[in-house]
Amino acid sequence: MARTAFARAGHDHDHCIEEALDRAETLCAAHGARLTALRRAVLGLVWRGHEPVGAYALLDALKQSHPNAAPPTIYRALEFLAEHGLIHRIESRNAFIGCDHPERPHAGQFLICARCSNAAEIDDPSVTRALSRSASGFGFAVTRQTVELSGLCPSCRRAAGA
Ligand SMILES: [Zn+2]
Ligand SMILES: [Zn+2]
Ligand SMILES: [Zn+2]
Repeated sequence: MARTAFARAGHDHDHCIEEALDRAETLCAAHGARLTALRRAVLGLVWRGHEPVGAYALLDALKQSHPNAAPPTIYRALEFLAEHGLIHRIESRNAFIGCDHPERPHAGQFLICARCSNAAEIDDPSVTRALSRSASGFGFAVTRQTVELSGLCPSCRRAAGA
């Protein structure tokens, strides 16, 4: 099981971004897909923090380097990145987050902090299997499974004294 711990405040986030971009290069090369400068720029923006970021915030940020960027530009890039498992869509936030283990396909379970918006991904195949089993008991075939849990992250819990 892969777990992404909540990022610690003050960690070397440039390193997170660098690693994510390196992984993306390797993975796209392996898939025979092209990580264009634009797609790479969008991925870097999704990774600007550990909290999910919305398409319009991404577009605003992208315009700094790509002044002609329009909504379809962002949506196409996000679609590509999601297709290759480099990002996940967080429905409850209508936003996107970078995946730090895109090498193999997985259904993500996300812990999302209601206070600071930081998110951590748990990729627990036993949860995925249990949900698929329950769904098939209802004659339901699951095509996409993302579990989003809302709550307080460790540092917000400490701050709240909870
Ligand atoms: Zn980081
Ligand atoms: Zn993931
Ligand atoms: Zn928090």
